[in-house]
Amino acid sequence: MSKNTYVVGFPRIGEQRELKFALENYWAKKTNFSEVEKVAKELKCKHWDYQKNAGIEHISSNDFSFYDNMLDMAVTLSAIPKRFAHLQEEERYFTMARGDKDTVAMEMTKWFNTNYHYIVPELSLEDRYKLNADKLLKEYKEAKKHGLTCKINIIGILTFLGLSKRIDGGDTYELYAKLLPIYEDLLKTIAELDDTVIVQIDEPIFVKDMDTKVLSLIKPTYDRLANVSTNIKITVLTYFEHSCEATRILVNTPIWAIGLDFLYANENFDSLELIAKSNKTLIAGVVDGRNIWKNDIEKSLNILNEIALHIHKNNLIISSSCSLLHVPFHLKHEQKMNPEIKNWLSYGVEKLDEIALISKIFFHSKKALHVTELEYLEANQKANLSRKISSLTHDTKVQERIKHTKKYEREGEYKQRIKLQKDKLQYLPLATTTIGSFPQTPEIRHARREYKNGNLDEKGYENEIKKYIDDCITFQEKCGLEILVHGEPERNDMVEYFAEQLNGYGFSQNGWVQSYGSRCVKPPFIYGDISRPKPMTLKWIRYAQSKTKKIMKGMLTGPVTILNWSFVRDDMPRSEVSKQIALGICDEVDDLQKAGIQVIQVDEAAFKEGYPLRQAKVKTYEEWAVRDFKLSVSCAKQETQIHTHMCYSEFNDIIATIEAMDADVISIETARSGNELLKIFAKVGYKQEVGPGVYDIHSTRIPSVKEIVTQIYSLLEVLPKEQLWINPDCGLKTRKWKEVKLSLQNMVQAVQIVREKLH
Ligand code: GLN
Ligand code: ZN
Repeated sequence: MSKNTYVVGFPRIGEQRELKFALENYWAKKTNFSEVEKVAKELKCKHWDYQKNAGIEHISSNDFSFYDNMLDMAVTLSAIPKRFAHLQEEERYFTMARGDKDTVAMEMTKWFNTNYHYIVPELSLEDRYKLNADKLLKEYKEAKKHGLTCKINIIGILTFLGLSKRIDGGDTYELYAKLLPIYEDLLKTIAELDDTVIVQIDEPIFVKDMDTKVLSLIKPTYDRLANVSTNIKITVLTYFEHSCEATRILVNTPIWAIGLDFLYANENFDSLELIAKSNKTLIAGVVDGRNIWKNDIEKSLNILNEIALHIHKNNLIISSSCSLLHVPFHLKHEQKMNPEIKNWLSYGVEKLDEIALISKIFFHSKKALHVTELEYLEANQKANLSRKISSLTHDTKVQERIKHTKKYEREGEYKQRIKLQKDKLQYLPLATTTIGSFPQTPEIRHARREYKNGNLDEKGYENEIKKYIDDCITFQEKCGLEILVHGEPERNDMVEYFAEQLNGYGFSQNGWVQSYGSRCVKPPFIYGDISRPKPMTLKWIRYAQSKTKKIMKGMLTGPVTILNWSFVRDDMPRSEVSKQIALGICDEVDDLQKAGIQVIQVDEAAFKEGYPLRQAKVKTYEEWAVRDFKLSVSCAKQETQIHTHMCYSEFNDIIATIEAMDADVISIETARSGNELLKIFAKVGYKQEVGPGVYDIHSTRIPSVKEIVTQIYSLLEVLPKEQLWINPDCGLKTRKWKEVKLSLQNMVQAVQIVREKLH
């Protein structure tokens, strides 16, 4: 019988984050590396067993990693930057990822539009590359010993080059001719393992808009790689978007299979005819690998039936839409969740059963199901129905409100607003402020934890927070900052804090997803219509304002950022969910304003995160994202000053969108680039005020007065003083108080010096 169930990749951190703890103990020198290896081996076997027992036939090897698969691929090709050359083995591997006191780590960046981060390989023309397949071979053999013949996952050469950077300047694809023979060597080596080995080559770069140069490399690459050995069957796999241009070329190469995502891109259906003609196998991603909802099995069968109108069933394999790395591990560890909601969810392990069942029904009809499988199917249908009709997901009040929302933006043009604001707020040119958070001290973390656990009562907790706010204000006043903040001591995380107070949000106890290395995040999830039952920040901001005569800035997180850092319901367009969040934030803006707060910052730190991978879809995203930011501040009076903050430095692509958001003041992260990246604001004639961070908060270094003065002058070359604010480049919560105090004192002093000179 042909094998027709497939999983792109499996999470590796462990259901209790075992790998995380093993790594961190080793890094802290509490254990040696053999302990990490032992844990890793156990995890791999356990994860293989989960997949095998669920009936998955195409299981991966080499989807495991001690840190990151891109880093692993760099090591496989011996793409080791010179500064790590003197180190050996695991020490070298982890230093590449994390750096040490003498050596800077390699850069890390987001994996497409997920919140996973990969290590960016560094390439140079003069480096020599050679094959080092040890890790990959070892893992295949481990699986073999465990009784499994796995496929081998690797990252394709075109994606590898596309995501790497050149340290000697120039285009990474210039290294193509150097690296392709190593990929060939790799496949030759793999071919010796068995009579038939499936190699899954991930080429997610194909889902982006590609230039003709890269497109022209697809055919020669896969002609050559697929001809290395008859022992090897190559699958070229993409996810997160469609890859129609590449598919059109791949069908004319001798690869065995093409893997496509049918959930995040309808365009992939347009490729079916070509794939059918080429007689290639199609790996159809129909179970969502990046969201946590229970699969709607009937719906998946419909998708497959549509696919089967083109592709012969013998050539069809059923799969997850991408690696399950992007979802939490196992629902069984959620013991505190409302059972009704829990019943709507499916994590990594649960998705395995879904793939197996869909496959069984699709290939053998419902009649072939055993009693337990029939029960499972029935339970699945019931759960999906319950989610559709539950009062938890529907809130008619919210829906009515949305229907009747007419006012999507605030009154008044910027020009007129800023005049009113300046009259009222009376701040000077080069006004000083901060981005919101001050250091999260061990005491404050402890208090929050104790409060959550019930060991500290509300009164006690409030006193702790108030004490922090008092100190924070005293420092800011003494320091001479002009627009103050309360310091955000009550917040653990800028999204979670708000999510916890909004209706329609759920939280997991153990829903960890790997973010990078040993770091995991536990995103909240949106299951129902969103509303704000009561004020979320008012108490703290009002208290803070009562403690100072200076202007207190209220701090909120914006709707787009809240959305982009959550798992989002899939039964409603994201743009609608975002609108609901915007209304909730708007209620808070209104309350703050009514309480006399005159400046409110609505952070959109993750605005860019939601950008589609395809240019053709960008406009739609920008339209609703801007709409909802504006909606969230639509109740602000003209004289209430709205700030926003974004953790980016590169605005060239999105400057028109930033302008359209129409915030009165935006603070950004350009500190590390001098005035270079600010120039775009001047170039487009940006009217609103800008606070380009004057020093880098990500470093422990204290910036001197002199260097901040120089920085301010360089900003003044680009924008007039009336348009500039002076602030650090991001929130201060990860810094130590001592560093923050010295840095901000220097910043304020620098402003005084510049102001005197300007008079
Ligand atoms: N106001 C938030 C803070 O200061 C913003 C965080 C961020 O930009 N990521 O922490
Ligand atoms: Zn920031």
